[in-house]
Amino acid sequence: MLLSQKIKINVSEQDAATLEFMQGKCRGLYNWWVMRLRNGEHWNIKIAKKSLRESKAYDPDLNFVYGKLLAEVYFRLEKAMQAFFERVTPGEKKPGFPRFKPRHQFFTLCYPAMYLEVQGNTLILPTGGGGKWGPKGYPNIVAHLTETPPEHFREVAVSRDACGNYYCSFVYDDAEQHQDQDPKENTRKKREQRPMREDGTMAFDLGIKTLATGVTDQGRFYHIGGFKGYRYYNKQLDKLRSKRDRCKKKSRRYIHLSKVYKRVSERKRNKQRDCLHKASHLIAGKLAERAVVIGDLSQRQMVMKKKESETPKERNKRRIRNRMVYNDWGLYGFVQMLEYKCLRFGKELYIISERDTTKMCSACQNKQDMPLWKRTYRCSNENCGLVMDRDENSAVNIRERFLARLGPHT
Ligand SMILES: [Zn+2]
Repeated sequence: MLLSQKIKINVSEQDAATLEFMQGKCRGLYNWWVMRLRNGEHWNIKIAKKSLRESKAYDPDLNFVYGKLLAEVYFRLEKAMQAFFERVTPGEKKPGFPRFKPRHQFFTLCYPAMYLEVQGNTLILPTGGGGKWGPKGYPNIVAHLTETPPEHFREVAVSRDACGNYYCSFVYDDAEQHQDQDPKENTRKKREQRPMREDGTMAFDLGIKTLATGVTDQGRFYHIGGFKGYRYYNKQLDKLRSKRDRCKKKSRRYIHLSKVYKRVSERKRNKQRDCLHKASHLIAGKLAERAVVIGDLSQRQMVMKKKESETPKERNKRRIRNRMVYNDWGLYGFVQMLEYKCLRFGKELYIISERDTTKMCSACQNKQDMPLWKRTYRCSNENCGLVMDRDENSAVNIRERFLARLGPHT
């Protein structure tokens, strides 16, 4: 399957300026087209690509941008437009028209592999012009890779993080790599291969407090805690922001504090992503059950709405929680990671309706309200009297629903 390896690159100041120039021009072209499309122009990629000549005549600087990068802009627009058309057809409320790419974000540059050269740990990224294409405005970029790239790759995307570091992401097919390429990694992979229980099932309840609570068809429970450092980081970030906002805009201290803020939030994001990777890897790669079942998140109403008359305590609670859902939670990313990791490890991921799974008693199917602060499920049915952890109860329900759906004979 297709995987991607992201490697940090070191470039000279001049080459960094070249990258900035090229991404700026690519973004300009992209946004110009978005503007035209927003004004009702018809999108046709062939006609659009042909118009590049006119665009170059209008802005000769485009000649200094590598041609394949400009071509990629049209493919990106095509993808965005096709996705938009797909969203329109089911008749959803907000299909979301392709947006302008903001100036402060780096416009990712996509190089097709066949025009790239890797020598040792050096990668040459071409710029526009040269030969029959006229004078070169900028010399080719020499990127020093900090890790060894995969042997056969298909595409390289150049990006930049908030701190101004540049990265190359190599897209490659893991089946095309040589078996004996890295002996160390191979032994590690072999060790990780565990016997799989073909008919085993593992159901997970995904949540805020614990990232995932799972139960197997044999009744064994797993608790996967998730990222713990929100408070530590959020406190720092809030402090930095309030300090910054008291400074004069664009002053030296303001710029310095902005930089620190970016660095800390980058660190928080990395930690969080790493944590989600580890958790999804544990589920997809380490646990023995072949079928992995999770509830459908799109049905969940996670964000709290503002009440008419709210006490300060309620207000604070709503703010903290909505911040978690919007910024920190990352469950959607987690599901995406699970999807591809399950595919990679030969497991099956099922996403089923999770309606009432928290409200229902897993022993007697009795339903009762379960406000979020109730962490333990105490069944109100006198004859049942089940007492169970809220998330465990929900995981059992998801498992039972999945097994019932399959029917007795499969
Ligand atoms: Zn019960």
